[in-house]
Amino acid sequence: MQCPNCKSKDIGKIGTNQYYCWNCFVEMSLQKGMLSLHQVEEDGSLSSLDDLFDDEDLHVGM
Ligand SMILES: [Zn+2]
Repeated sequence: MQCPNCKSKDIGKIGTNQYYCWNCFVEMSLQKGMLSLHQVEEDGSLSSLDDLFDDEDLHVGM
């Protein structure tokens, strides 16, 4: 598994189906084989990054 955003493999698991990229600080949740990416803003809110990627990029082969 690698980060769709920066292609880093420095991914940490932070919860059930939830991952965090230590390289670009993006939070990922895995649902039905698809990743959903969120960036943590300075105020602590999450903004979705899914619009930046194609479905292919977010699909995780397992
Ligand atoms: Zn990343």
